[in-house]
Amino acid sequence: MNDVIYMDNNATTKVAPDVLAAMLPYFSELYGNPSSMHRFGGQVGRALVKAREQVAELLGADTEEIIFTSCGTESDSTAILSAVRANPDKHHIVTTRVEHPAVKNLATSLRNLTGHKYRVTSLGVDNEGMLDLDEYRKALSDDTAIVSVMWANNETGVIFPIAEMAAMAKEEGILFHTDAVQAVGKIPINLRELEVNFLSLSGHKLHAPKGVGVLYVKKGTPYAPFMIGGHQERGRRGGTENTASIVGLGKACELAGAWMSLENSKVRKLRDKLEEGLLASIPNSILNGHKTSRLPNTCNISFEYIEGEAILLHMDQYNICASSGSACTSGSLEPSHVMRAMGVPFTAAHGSIRFSLSVFNTEDEVDLVLEKMPAIIAGLREMSPFWQNRDKG
Ligand SMILES: *Cc1c(COP(=O)(O)O)cnc(C)c1O
Repeated sequence: MNDVIYMDNNATTKVAPDVLAAMLPYFSELYGNPSSMHRFGGQVGRALVKAREQVAELLGADTEEIIFTSCGTESDSTAILSAVRANPDKHHIVTTRVEHPAVKNLATSLRNLTGHKYRVTSLGVDNEGMLDLDEYRKALSDDTAIVSVMWANNETGVIFPIAEMAAMAKEEGILFHTDAVQAVGKIPINLRELEVNFLSLSGHKLHAPKGVGVLYVKKGTPYAPFMIGGHQERGRRGGTENTASIVGLGKACELAGAWMSLENSKVRKLRDKLEEGLLASIPNSILNGHKTSRLPNTCNISFEYIEGEAILLHMDQYNICASSGSACTSGSLEPSHVMRAMGVPFTAAHGSIRFSLSVFNTEDEVDLVLEKMPAIIAGLREMSPFWQNRDKG
């Protein structure tokens, strides 16, 4: 599997070689507990201080605003449940129909577990995946405990106007959370300039390992911990620190800052070449998601009248990795909740493929995908009754 063509970076990324190198000593000689009184543990504590600075630098945050967690999902849960606890008299949450399950299912379960004491407004999107800000403004009320809106969508890469939306929430005195797991490292973020109270990120989406994340909590934001235990993370998240992974995440954030311009030049150019090439060479192929308000690494294309799963299996023969729908919903026959929210027609929603690139992709890889895809799609359509009967309604 050495010659794998990996275009599934919104699902997870390769650990960057420099990240791995930074981590390795913390599995071997530097195994101390950062909370210990001895100098041996203290060295590890200092490494965590540095990692916190590296994360804060990438986000335009202060180090005291950074809490290390176990993943993006934990960060999302912590933010939302914290706001709910801080506002016991408010029983309304505003979110969108296109959130990652980490937010979407949490909101649903909060509603169901409380016997519908909580009300959830899930804002719809148009067919380019964009929100209506007037509808958003109208959804905000005195009863709203928190707004949780993703910065960039994992399936389509569509970017939401977070600065504007956070400012609108602030005007109404409502806490604002953004799941920025897909945005961090791909678009510049400066939290000092934003009215964002909580922001989630995940290590494994930006070339750090799986199982480590960050929750940013703006100074002055009311906060209640989710993991209750020791004094770690200033009592805001109990549990002995995942030291090696935190060191890796710090390094990954430093690299992400250095690579930001590459994301918007090299990666964007490769993505555009792939996207334009596929749309031009394959009939009945449609781009899903806004053309410009979109991450530079993502393109989601529907190949009408065939199944995404079948396309992926044929791509797999050439060791090309991508996704259909979202990884979390594949396996079910329903098109993804994002495609449904965008109103992508049935014949197109089933055949949607997400290509998500990274700085590690090359032009040769894009050329190979462009060479193989037209025959894969044509072959599957030859066997598809939907394709054969497409003009008969
Ligand atoms: C991957 C992802 C998550 C979950 O992060 P984990 O670290 O895997 O828990 C949350 N939100 C978005 C948008 C994601 O893409």
